[in-house]
Amino acid sequence: MSESIENIVIVGSGPAGYTAAIYAARANLQPILITGFQKGGIPGGQLMTTTFVENFPGFPDGIMGPELMDLLKSQAIRWGTKLIESDADIIDINKHPFCIKTSDSSSKKIKTNSLVIATGASANKLNLPSESKFWSKGISACAICDGATPQFRKEELAVVGGGDSACEEAVYLTKYGSHVHLLVRSNKLRASAAMADRVLLNKDITIHFSTELIDIQGEGWLQTLKVKRLGSRNHEDIQVKGLFYAIGHTPNTEILKNQLELNKHGYIVTKPGRPETSIEGVFAAGDVADSEWRQGVTAAASGCKAALAAEKWLSKNNLASLIHRDLAEPASTPKNIPTEISDQNNFKSDAIWQKGSYALRKLYHESEIPLLVIYTSPNCGPCHVLKPQIKRVLKELEGKAQAVEIDIEIDPNIAEQAKVNGTPTVQLFQLKELKEEWKGVKQRSDFKNSILKLINQ
Ligand SMILES: Cc1cc2nc3c(=O)[nH]c(=O)nc-3n(C[C@H](O)[C@H](O)[C@H](O)COP(=O)(O)OP(=O)(O)OC[C@H]3O[C@@H](n4cnc5c(N)ncnc54)[C@H](O)[C@@H]3O)c2cc1C
Repeated sequence: MSESIENIVIVGSGPAGYTAAIYAARANLQPILITGFQKGGIPGGQLMTTTFVENFPGFPDGIMGPELMDLLKSQAIRWGTKLIESDADIIDINKHPFCIKTSDSSSKKIKTNSLVIATGASANKLNLPSESKFWSKGISACAICDGATPQFRKEELAVVGGGDSACEEAVYLTKYGSHVHLLVRSNKLRASAAMADRVLLNKDITIHFSTELIDIQGEGWLQTLKVKRLGSRNHEDIQVKGLFYAIGHTPNTEILKNQLELNKHGYIVTKPGRPETSIEGVFAAGDVADSEWRQGVTAAASGCKAALAAEKWLSKNNLASLIHRDLAEPASTPKNIPTEISDQNNFKSDAIWQKGSYALRKLYHESEIPLLVIYTSPNCGPCHVLKPQIKRVLKELEGKAQAVEIDIEIDPNIAEQAKVNGTPTVQLFQLKELKEEWKGVKQRSDFKNSILKLINQ
C-alpha cells in the first residue's frame, strides 16, 4: 500500500494557522494542523496570553484573547481540519513531499505536498545570571497568567520593557500589586501613544528610564532587582516580589534553519506582500514572517493568503486530492458550558470535574482515588489549554480519578496554603498526600501516566 500524502499541513495554531486551516478546509483539502504545545508558545498562540482584544474586527465590545482563539479553532474544526496537539519536532523541506515529525507519543511522520508555516514568535528572556534560579519564583513572562497569584498581591512588582506589551502588563499588574516599576532601557517608551499615556498618567506606575536590569537576588523568592542607571557606575537596588518580562519576541524558525531563506533576525523571507517562501510549496503566514505589523488581524489575513496560494499551487501541480462532502453545511459547533462552583446542594462525590473550595475540602478528606487540584486564574490562556487536556484524561480513566478546579482569584487563601505561585499549577493527591506537581502546560500523557501509576500501585 502506498504511503499517504496530505494535501496541506499547517504548523502553528495562532490566528495565522487557524485562518489558513479554515480556508484550506473549506476548499475541501482536509488540512492537518499541528497546534504546537510547548516549544514555540502554546496552542492558540500569543493571544492566549492576553486579556481583551479590542481591535480584532467583528467584536465591537472586544473579546478575550483565549475566547477569540477558541472561536477560530472551532471554525477550523467545523469545516474538517484535523488537529494534532503536539509540537513539530522536525520539518524536512529539502525534498518533496515534505516530511514532519511530531513530538507526541505517536511520534508520527507526516508527509505532505504543501506546508504552511505559522509558528509565530516566542517571548524573549534576558539571560541574567540568576534568571533560571528565580524563574517561576518571582519571574514570569506572562503577567496575565501569573499576576493574580497570591505572592504578587499588594506587593511591589516590576515589568521590563518599553513597548506595548510592557505598558499593557504594567497597567494590568496595578490591579494586584501595590506599585509597579517599569524598567525601560532607553530614554523613551516604544509603545503606541495611547498605551504610553495610560502608563504615564497612572500614579501606581513608576517608569525608570535609561535603566538596565543587571541581576536578581532573593532567598528562595525574588526580593531585589540590581539595576544600573545610564551614566552611573553603581548598581542600585529596587525591592520587588515580582518581575515580568515584556521584551519582545523571537520568530520560531529554529527548526527551519538552513532549509529556507530567513532574514538576519530569523524571520522567514517571503515574496513581497505574498506568502510564498524560497521553497516551492512552502508558504509562511503571521508573525513568523512579519517583524513589522505583528497583529492578530494581519496574521489572520496572511493565513488566508497562504491557504489560497497553497490551494492554487496544489491544483496547478495536479497534487490536490479533494474530499467530497455529503452535506454542504457542516453541523454547528457545540456550546461550551462553564462549570458551576460546587456547594452542599450541587456537590457530587463521584463527579470527575468540580470547582471551588467546597468540592476540594470534601474530596481531599473523603475521596480515596487520585485527586487532581487544578489552580487556574480567569484570564490565563495556558489554563484554557490545559483544562480540556485534563478533562480528556479523566474521561479516559472512567471515574478512577477526579479533579477540582480552584480559581485563585476566588480562593487566594487556598492557593497560598498550597504554595502555588503561578497558573496553571496542577497538584496530584492521593489520600491527602501530595504525589506530584506540574506547572504550566504539559502533555496529556504526563498526567495520565502519573495517575495510572497510583491506580496500579
Ligand atoms: C500580550 C500580547 C497582547 C497582544 N494583543 C494584541 C491585540 O490586542 N490585538 C492584536 O491584533 N494582536 C495582539 N497581539 C499580537 C498577536 O497576538 C500576534 O500578532 C498574533 O498572535 C500572531 O499570530 P500568529 O498566528 O502569527 O502566531 P502566534 O499567535 O505566535 O502562534 C504561533 C503558534 O505556532 C505554534 N508553534 C510554534 N512552534 C511550533 C512548532 N515547532 N510546532 C508546532 N507549532 C508550533 C505555537 O504553539 C502557536 O500556536 C498581542 C500579543 C501579545 C504577546
